[in-house]
Amino acid sequence: MAERFDVVVIGAGPGGARAARRCAQRGASVALVERQFIGGTCLNWGCIPSKTLLASAHLLMKARSASEMGIDIPSAAPNWPRIQQRRESIIAGLRKGMQGGMKSAKIAYFEGTAVVHSPTKVTVEANGQKTDLDAGKLILATGSESIQIPSLPFDGKVVISSTEALSLPEIPKSMVVVGGGVIGCELGCAYAAMGTKVTIVEALESLLPMLDSWASRLVEREFKGLGIEALTGRRVMSVDKGPSSAKVNLDGGQAIEAERVLVAVGRRAAVDRAIVSALGLEMNGPVIKVNKRMETNVPGVYAVGDVVGTTYLAHGATAEAEVAAANATGSSEEMLDYDLIPRVIFTFPEVASVGKTEAKCQAEGLDVTVGKGFYKANGRSVAENDTNGQIHAIRDNAINEIVGVTMVGPLATEFVAFARTLIGTCEPIRQITFPHPTISETLEDAMHEALGELLLE
Ligand code: NAD
Repeated sequence: MAERFDVVVIGAGPGGARAARRCAQRGASVALVERQFIGGTCLNWGCIPSKTLLASAHLLMKARSASEMGIDIPSAAPNWPRIQQRRESIIAGLRKGMQGGMKSAKIAYFEGTAVVHSPTKVTVEANGQKTDLDAGKLILATGSESIQIPSLPFDGKVVISSTEALSLPEIPKSMVVVGGGVIGCELGCAYAAMGTKVTIVEALESLLPMLDSWASRLVEREFKGLGIEALTGRRVMSVDKGPSSAKVNLDGGQAIEAERVLVAVGRRAAVDRAIVSALGLEMNGPVIKVNKRMETNVPGVYAVGDVVGTTYLAHGATAEAEVAAANATGSSEEMLDYDLIPRVIFTFPEVASVGKTEAKCQAEGLDVTVGKGFYKANGRSVAENDTNGQIHAIRDNAINEIVGVTMVGPLATEFVAFARTLIGTCEPIRQITFPHPTISETLEDAMHEALGELLLE
């Protein structure tokens, strides 16, 4: 006899987990099905493990420059086995916390693979056991996987994806990173700080090409200081693999030897073809097609997160999950402007952006005023010995509102949610007293300059 649930959620990454919790909170009976680990890519092979490596790398950098702040640390070196143990125990602890959260929310958690027969019939298969579920509504949140380049197939040892890069058996002496996007730059930073000779090859003209050029330039300058070599406007053509290293051949004939080759050229939706055909889902190329209510072409079947290919961000998935959960439980909500989902990059220095970029404003022909704040002019940043960074706030002069903020520098990823609240406004900035001395005053400087004479009215 099938167990009956108001909502069955498939995939327990940030999107699926949030959808399950929100549906339960709204009074629905919920089943959450996951075939690997609770937390999905984000917790197990993505956001969290990469941040644990970056946190250790950042501390190492701080320790090495401690004498500049009057603290003598005779030697500071990474203890890789300990760093790896820490990563594992952090993941295990957070998984346990998530499991506990599901339990207290009375969500039925099923470990196994969901086989979907129809919008209302799902079977969970695990170790030869089958459990049938009756679903009122379905939410698909099956995530994404690393894109593989045919000329650079992953072997998990020498040519690796971000998954293996998080748990290498030792710190490699050298690494070529193919792709200077978010993953390539974050992991490139972590390894460079740990002592690896890192070369990043990026096909477009700058690292982090989605950023405004000033921000990419600032990051590239700091990367140089970290010893990272950035080869931009270059493509990797092929790789000659040995047992413990590889020769990476670039266009133009240059070749680079490295112990590891990390391929980070994007992620693609992990779409279960059997689910697509069982439900008759309409696709949008490689991703599941949804409307603004996050509903697929099949009524009562929703999809969120990487599988719909919108943001490829954990918090993009949770934003979509909020909408899907509301709609699956009787409300009516729509996804708002995707530009308002903050973009964050945890490099050294950190980068964050929300709203429109300067490039987008230019492409739209907007007349804008850009206000700038400089970390080097900020007292707290100077005291902290961390002055590399800038914040740009953009005012659309036609409507006299802030339409975008981009930040490069310490705590940028922490400030961006606050910056988001200032988008579409002019007035509130006058009502906010930024505490002194704080790094956040750099944002105040940028906002004040962007709004300029409007604040005098
Ligand atoms: P990405 O799209 O950010 O970057 C991939 C880069 O590879 C691009 O700049 C592209 O021009 C380049 N490229 C493609 N083919 C190439 C080739 N043959 N040679 C050289 N360069 C090539 O993708 P990613 O870094 O793999 O990240 C995947 C997704 O995960 C992204 O959407 C990213 O936003 C997301 N993610 C986000 C975070 C975060 O929010 N902090 C962290 C990790 C990943």
